[in-house]
Amino acid sequence: MILDHIGIAVKNIENAKKMYTSILHSSAYHEEYLESQKVKVAFFKTGANSKIELLEGIDVDSLIYKFVEKKGEGIHHMAFLVKDIYAEIERMKNEGFETLQDKPKLGAANKLVFFFHPKSTGGSLIELCQKQD
Ligand code: ZN
Repeated sequence: MILDHIGIAVKNIENAKKMYTSILHSSAYHEEYLESQKVKVAFFKTGANSKIELLEGIDVDSLIYKFVEKKGEGIHHMAFLVKDIYAEIERMKNEGFETLQDKPKLGAANKLVFFFHPKSTGGSLIELCQKQD
């Protein structure tokens, strides 16, 4: 698996974008609103393949909104890029990891995404993602 991105939950994506533009010395290259999750996202490149994903929940029902309310801003998940998400999900389930969903969902940048429960992964939320052509 390749580390694809680190997801960071923020209160205000405009402020966070300014800060990360200063930190990384480059601007966000992709921004999107995910209606299904009530989340605004912005991506920054941090190397050939790795990225930072900023996430702002814009509704009290959004999981990102709830995360920030409970834990404050900060690292929310890490995402690994896989070639066959269905096979990797089965493999990890067989290893005993608990899932947060039944099947992959459509995430940012038209990728399929799937999450494992942090209580089974040592406290860190793990995302698998796969590109769709
Ligand atoms: Zn992500």
